[in-house]
Amino acid sequence: MTTAASTAASRVQGDGSTRAADHAVPAGPDGAPIVELGVPVVGGAYGRSSSGTSGLELSEADRSERFAQMRAGELGSLHSWELVTAVDGPGTRLTTFLSGCPLQCLYCHNPDTMEMRRGEPVTADELLSRITRYRSIFEVTGGGITISGGEPLMQPAFVARILRGAKEMGIHTAVDTSGYLGAHCTDAMLEDIDLVLLDVKSGIPETYRRVTGRELEPTLEFGRRLAARGTEIWVRFVLVPGLTDAPENVDAVADYVASLSSVSRVEVLPFHQMGRDKWASLGLRYELEDTPAPTPELVERVREQFRSRGLTVR
Ligand code: SF4
Repeated sequence: MTTAASTAASRVQGDGSTRAADHAVPAGPDGAPIVELGVPVVGGAYGRSSSGTSGLELSEADRSERFAQMRAGELGSLHSWELVTAVDGPGTRLTTFLSGCPLQCLYCHNPDTMEMRRGEPVTADELLSRITRYRSIFEVTGGGITISGGEPLMQPAFVARILRGAKEMGIHTAVDTSGYLGAHCTDAMLEDIDLVLLDVKSGIPETYRRVTGRELEPTLEFGRRLAARGTEIWVRFVLVPGLTDAPENVDAVADYVASLSSVSRVEVLPFHQMGRDKWASLGLRYELEDTPAPTPELVERVREQFRSRGLTVR
């Protein structure tokens, strides 16, 4: 869930080493294509600041085998990963960005995550092996893994395997989602999720449709389901001048969030223009070309709208 602002400030970029220029996909022992997850703290098909197309040529047999593996959750489509601190959940986290998203947010700062075909294949075993390497860091910092996107619930079987594997290792788990595909998240998956980062993009259906091209209700329903079972939620709200900043829109989001008993934090994320060039490089029309970042006064007004309902706001 690559919101306009969630990665703006505090991500560790490390040495910048990525697999962006290396799209050769080796075959695993079972013949499955795998992404070799190496040392860098930023990685994946594109890293977080590059773009491109994987361009994998597959035979029909390869393709149907791959779909079967994806349906079984053995294989996922990966955009990138990062080791981050103080974002995407508590402590230091390995955040994995999966490819594919049913929404088309006007402010998406990683539009190259929208299409699953743009990702690189990675096996669940390989990703879990990478996670294992960071266990000691997670233990020391109180961190864990965060599965983001794109929309992680586009690949529910794969996500379920990663979550299960992480919990078997005693690792804290978070999922960053719009909630639009919340119906894909089974109760068994929820058992393995410690924290949901729920992106509530609007509280008004018309505004939600304008922002995402989709309906609001599935997100609201998923949030209510999480609250009913007591799953901890951090809500994220991207503040975009002229799009989501209307007082009545923020009131609607805040009223909804205040009704969810398991919300422990609200993050108001100021819009920024860091994703603009990606839209152009993908040949997509970017509608927010002239939209400014919100002023500090506007950010404070919106944060106060949440605080006034007794919510903890960051
Ligand atoms: S289009 Fe998808 S990945 Fe991009 S911000 Fe929206 S929900 Fe996140």
